[in-house]
Amino acid sequence: MLQFFNTLSRTKEEFKPLREKTVGLYTCGPTVYDFAHIGNLRAYIFADVLKRVLLQNGYQVKQIMNITDVGHLTGDRDMGEDKIQKAALEKHKTAWEIASVYTEAFLDDIKQLNILLPDKLPKATDHIKEMIELIATLEKKGFTYRTTDGLYFDTAKLKDYGKLARLDLAGLREGARVEINAEKKNPTDFALWKSSPNPSTSSGQRRQMEWESPWGVGFPGWHIECSAMSVKYLGQPFDIHTGGVDHVPVHHTNEIAQSEAAAGKPLANYWLHSEFVIVNDARMGKSEGNLITLRELKDKGYSPLAYRYFVLQGHYRTKLNFTWEAMAGAQNTLDNLYSHLAEYAEPKIGCAEFERKFLDAINDDLDTPKALAVVWELLRSDYPGEAKLEALLKFDQILGLSLKDTWQELREPLPEEIQKLVQEREKLRKETNWDKADKVREQIRSLGFEIKDTERGPLVTRIPQR
Ligand code: AMP
Ligand code: ZN
Repeated sequence: MLQFFNTLSRTKEEFKPLREKTVGLYTCGPTVYDFAHIGNLRAYIFADVLKRVLLQNGYQVKQIMNITDVGHLTGDRDMGEDKIQKAALEKHKTAWEIASVYTEAFLDDIKQLNILLPDKLPKATDHIKEMIELIATLEKKGFTYRTTDGLYFDTAKLKDYGKLARLDLAGLREGARVEINAEKKNPTDFALWKSSPNPSTSSGQRRQMEWESPWGVGFPGWHIECSAMSVKYLGQPFDIHTGGVDHVPVHHTNEIAQSEAAAGKPLANYWLHSEFVIVNDARMGKSEGNLITLRELKDKGYSPLAYRYFVLQGHYRTKLNFTWEAMAGAQNTLDNLYSHLAEYAEPKIGCAEFERKFLDAINDDLDTPKALAVVWELLRSDYPGEAKLEALLKFDQILGLSLKDTWQELREPLPEEIQKLVQEREKLRKETNWDKADKVREQIRSLGFEIKDTERGPLVTRIPQR
């Protein structure tokens, strides 16, 4: 049985797709104003594992991931500056250039993490028309009101507003006495359309991204893009919507409110949320000043797939504490796993017992830590290497750790010169001649090969050319 924890019901539910074959999956994507940090990337590794699990269960998957290139403000509740516009001013680029550069960087990151490319990556700025249409429907149905800075959604008009997050609306009202936007009728109301500030009366500069609309020149609120694009590509309702936990109280709550108000039916049936990556008890984030990018990990000698392994070691609904020690541990464990592969000749037969166990773990709300435990149990078992390899390659359809490519690479004989150097280094290490051994390692490196010491001896791989 395939089951997921649904944030809407707060229970594990058996997955029942709307259509027989193709599952519609919407993944809240990145705001492309800077490099993604490894916390952000956890959310996409999680969505990727989910997609792979669906595929492994025989479904086809249509996955849509939005690219937020306008409207996401520095404060979640419609206050602050547009993140893209702010980055453009700081970096002396146009907003369009910023969005393009960081979209490319994001695509590069997810490729290196073996994240399967979504079927579509629609940009918010390409869907202004759809957003305006949706807002117009909401206006016609009486869910909106105007303020001096735009058009807002009146959350009091929806009787089950906040159901996803079980929001305590009375408490929020109580806590919002010092609401900065005094024109809002309720603290939870949110912008559907924001007017561009008038450059002659505001200290702000003229916006680079703005459009004509029935409510004046401006730009869309952040939440409306996901409502417009998910329904355009997946229909309403669709099966599964994913994102990080921080999206539960505001972004996803508001997506649900506006989509359900407009169409009178649910937006999605299952809502899945991944927990944060934390550092010293604080969420990893730009404003916390503690973020780490994939580039920094690589500069310190860690592979993107070791980070993927690190993420898989935790269940997606628990916080993951990032430390460099833990990262080194994940890299070692992955290298050890790879070192086993070198011994296997051909994949054959498989191990039904372990394959069952693995699938049971992963189908139970994506229990990746348990699934990895099955991997190691299999490696310790008495099954022949070829059977293990067959099973491992099946597991890797979900784990995404490049086991097949690595196995093929390790099976290729090393150039003689490298073999000799590796043997020489082993000898020097036995003689505890560490300095010389390190020099040989450098020499091997300069010839394009990486040598790593695992429990099972040296693991030599080709350094990828990037
Ligand atoms: P953003 O680009 O800011 O819209 O965020 C992209 C994704 O990263 C969202 O799904 C967030 O929920 C998620 N996210 C942000 N910070 C973290 C973190 N520290 N750990 C895990 N996920 C995060
Ligand atoms: Zn979204």
